[in-house]
Amino acid sequence: MISKRALKVDSSGIRKVFELASKIENPINLSIGQPDFDVPENIKNAAIDAIQKGFNRYTLTQGIAELREKSLDYINKTRGSSFKPDQILITSGVSGGLMLALMSIIDPGDEIIFFDPYFVMYKHLVNLLGGTPVIVDSYPDFKIDKQKLEAAITDKTKAIIINSPSNPTGYVYTQEDINNAVSAAKSRNLLLISDEIYDGFVYDGGFHSPSEIYDNTLVLGGFSKTYAMTGWRMGYAAGNADIIAQMIKIQQYSFVCAPSPFQYASLEALNTDMSEFKEAYKKKRDIVYNGLKDNFDIIKPNGAFYIFPRLKSGNVSEFVEKAIANRVLIIPGNVFSEKNTNFRISFASKDNDLEKGVEILNKLANEF
Ligand code: PLP
Repeated sequence: MISKRALKVDSSGIRKVFELASKIENPINLSIGQPDFDVPENIKNAAIDAIQKGFNRYTLTQGIAELREKSLDYINKTRGSSFKPDQILITSGVSGGLMLALMSIIDPGDEIIFFDPYFVMYKHLVNLLGGTPVIVDSYPDFKIDKQKLEAAITDKTKAIIINSPSNPTGYVYTQEDINNAVSAAKSRNLLLISDEIYDGFVYDGGFHSPSEIYDNTLVLGGFSKTYAMTGWRMGYAAGNADIIAQMIKIQQYSFVCAPSPFQYASLEALNTDMSEFKEAYKKKRDIVYNGLKDNFDIIKPNGAFYIFPRLKSGNVSEFVEKAIANRVLIIPGNVFSEKNTNFRISFASKDNDLEKGVEILNKLANEF
């Protein structure tokens, strides 16, 4: 009954962690990929208002005009890009945007390049759609190495996916990293899919998007993380008008449209200043990085809410099991990687939980 396509997706790694975690009482949960604050009141009220005013029906497949216009303005202003009104689509989260983008470009056997470590969905979606994931090692510093990237490109390559700030490393690409990705993509006119969902969490220095310098970029962004509305399923895609048109066509026969009342609430989100939350998350980053840097090898994360320490010695799966047995929930690196040398901590947690977690992880590292 079950398709080969479905069977290719293996979620056993993360399931094992969740099973172990479900047996722990009162855990210090550093495994969650979403903010620990709630949606700000003004945005919640905008959603309630939209529902009460009757904005509960299908919208245009590509999303309501006001939100397309406002999102476009936001992207162009923050990225220095110059996308036009026919170059944007409102999606059901970045996950929805990714699915539509990959469905629009992958034929069986086409290769999609991305970097190891990677956001888990990339590999599974490419496999589901009959494509071939080509995974370029970016350890130990997570930078984009132009030579390695160019060596991975073949006649079958369709696109390169980049993700900055990154899940699971928190690394933010420098202008040099972006230039390397763009120059490799440009040499074969490849699509550069840029997953920018964590753009609201960049701590020191700037955020760079390839859309500023390369027209063949598809920007995927969203509201889930910045405004803590992961369950509202709101995102956008901006890029080449031909690809956007295909994505709209496929959305029409799959997701239909992004959730209607939350499209209206997202208008309010784009008016909301979230800098206070970002500052609080920078402080959390500092608690975890400063707390762990002596006992683990760590590239200091400059964005998102993840840190990806490398064990100095020993087996990561055993370390993670020990951490979980000591009530600290973390995720082994092989859930996001072809290697198992690191583990992911999400610092989207209360400061005192982070402090307790750091103390326990340091103690375990010294015993290991
Ligand atoms: N891209 C990355 C890198 C993510 O970490 C996530 C969520 O964890 C997503 C995309 C999906 O986000 P959304 O809630 O917008 O579907």
